[in-house]
Amino acid sequence: MSGNGSRFQAISQITDRDIQPAKTPNRLEELWAIDVFTLSKMQACLPKEVFKSIKQTIHSGGKLDTSVAGIVAASMKDWAISKGALYYAHVFYPMTNSTAEKHDGFISVQGDGSAITEFTGKVLVQGEPDGSSFPNGGIRSTFEARGYTAWDVTSPAYVMETDNGVTLCIPTVFISWTGEALDKKTPLLRSNAAMSNSATRLLNLLGHTDVATVNSSCGAEQEYFLVDTHFAHSRPDLLLTGRTLFGRPAAKGQQFDDHYFGAIPERVQVFMQDVEQKMYRLGIPAKTRHNEVAPGQFEIAPFFEAANVASDHQQMTMTLLKSVAKKHGFICLLHEKPFAGINGSGKHVNWSVGNATQGNLLDPGDTPHANLQFLLFCGAVIRGVHKYGRLLRAVVATASNDHRLGANEAPPAIISVYLGSQLEGVFEQIKQGNVQDSDRVGVMKLGVATLPEFPKDPGDRNRTSPFAFTGNRFEFRAVGSGQSVAGPLVAMNTILTDSLNWVADKLETQLQAGADLNTAALTVLKEVMENHSAVVFGGNGYSEEWHQMAVEERGLPNLPTTADALPVLREKKIEELFAKTGVLTATELESRFEVYAEQYIQVIEMEANLVISLAKTVIYPAAIRYLSELSGSIANLKAVGIELDREGAEKVAMLTKSMMESISKLCGALHQHDFSSIEEHMQYSAKTLRPMMDQVREYADALEGEVADDLWPLPKYQEMLFIK
Ligand code: ADP
Ligand code: MG
Repeated sequence: MSGNGSRFQAISQITDRDIQPAKTPNRLEELWAIDVFTLSKMQACLPKEVFKSIKQTIHSGGKLDTSVAGIVAASMKDWAISKGALYYAHVFYPMTNSTAEKHDGFISVQGDGSAITEFTGKVLVQGEPDGSSFPNGGIRSTFEARGYTAWDVTSPAYVMETDNGVTLCIPTVFISWTGEALDKKTPLLRSNAAMSNSATRLLNLLGHTDVATVNSSCGAEQEYFLVDTHFAHSRPDLLLTGRTLFGRPAAKGQQFDDHYFGAIPERVQVFMQDVEQKMYRLGIPAKTRHNEVAPGQFEIAPFFEAANVASDHQQMTMTLLKSVAKKHGFICLLHEKPFAGINGSGKHVNWSVGNATQGNLLDPGDTPHANLQFLLFCGAVIRGVHKYGRLLRAVVATASNDHRLGANEAPPAIISVYLGSQLEGVFEQIKQGNVQDSDRVGVMKLGVATLPEFPKDPGDRNRTSPFAFTGNRFEFRAVGSGQSVAGPLVAMNTILTDSLNWVADKLETQLQAGADLNTAALTVLKEVMENHSAVVFGGNGYSEEWHQMAVEERGLPNLPTTADALPVLREKKIEELFAKTGVLTATELESRFEVYAEQYIQVIEMEANLVISLAKTVIYPAAIRYLSELSGSIANLKAVGIELDREGAEKVAMLTKSMMESISKLCGALHQHDFSSIEEHMQYSAKTLRPMMDQVREYADALEGEVADDLWPLPKYQEMLFIK
């Protein structure tokens, strides 16, 4: 498969390839949400009372009235069948980063042998996939094969059209027979409800009597790479691991800064348009697209939505990117670091909280009263990130994301908060206890007794911060490009819940003691800043100085690898946080640790095995062929009296020998199977196996720089990155 012939064949096949002409795009109104069973479609076909009941559940999180399920199911089925669906699927999100679905036909065979379509309320509301086939960590002991899926009314049903037909898809949660969450959606829904309760309590204390359900929002910017399938098929590493395990950086990388926002290659543009049209049909509000920093790297970002819906839509986006890419002759890489030496891919999770009555609670606004509210919510976030920064690090810990976070690449593994200079100034004044009447940077007016006014954009951007305030939301930039956004959203909602409770407790005590609201709020905020301002950092997050200062002076944790970060999930403090907010039980949390730890170990071992086999069966033979060609020529020339410099051949021989030795070491290391704990096993993968894999790669990549180009079997970086 990966003979050198196929490398050159791939190049000519790609350059001969016809670019699929772009279809004339449909108008947005013709496409928008046509494949979604939206509220307005429900309103059109459901009896008034039934519609009211379901809308109530969706908007205010009330309990789903089971008597209405049958009626909704019937209309949903009719609608889906009118779209060509024969099957329905409960779609759920197991503890991998992927999407799972179990398909069932609408068919029901009758006593007389005839068949009708059937879809009852019961099957809409509840499904029963085989739970044991999905990762469930520590839950396995108490949990038998049974698992249930249950309809999540707050995320709309839709039909998905593929080459294999049309399927009605119902977003669901996935729980075990004993009621434990086996998925990523259940904790997200719980964290959102907990956050809403705490936020409501604080808003009440601030004098609001009319407070609608508070929801978290999410807008996820997705970075990805596209590589032609002809190349990918000659690169087993790309196919199996999503990244290049070998490959010498091309002479041209991203050093000219000519790719970011550059003109999008035609073939890619046709692909993007296709993806966006499919997204629109599914009601996913794709908004921006552009080239990213690295060659071959792109980004797509939707308009933000309620976190739960955004999270489902994000999963659908990842699925669409991959499946549509195939149709256009690309493979879409969502790995965080597909190519060494050039930028990796992240997923920036923009997050805020708000509701219908008070609006975006992280919007600085322009009235003093709204500012007070903003400052308390923002202060609560600062406290949460400082207190639980370790958790935020743990929820973005994966084998692949280690290549970004632990390496000299953005963003760093140290979790800090960027506020922007103006906001940072305000919080600094709060800390000093003298919020004064002063003009700062000509934008901000600080009234004597009142609180400051901010401009909408209270600061510059800081691309080196893992957690940055960006005007009216926070942007969590350390999330991996292939990750589900649910985990990070759960963590953010949960730490905010904890902080809002703390703020409300403090405020309540102050108010009961007779303090006025402004004084009470400023006192609480002062305490937040006295204890937690160490997490606020506006400088360069990549710098050496910051790494030193963060750890030594500010006491912030630096957890460079997943092996260091994941065990945080086993800490007492984290267990208590999830237990007291009702988001995850101790068993559920432990099961997540076990599942993720196992995934980490498996990824590294799989990669190590592939490193060995590729180095032995693909790279070694190429080096040996070249060597024998070289030494043959040297001998032949010598016979006719011409002495050729032997240095080149010697270098290839030495590199080959060293590579084979490093493979032997890695082979031996892989067979070590004696670990006293899963933590120790992870550390071994991170600190022993990974460096050994890097060592093999170093020799192999050096060989790539020596061996004759026509003998080199693996498509090279310059080809994969630049030929589109
Ligand atoms: P940049 O690349 O400069 O960070 P983008 O415009 O690409 O910005 O992405 C910003 C993302 O933030 C978009 O998905 C946008 O919808 C989202 N966003 C804006 N406001 C909010 C909010 N209140 N809550 C969550 N996400 C938001
Ligand atoms: Mg961004």
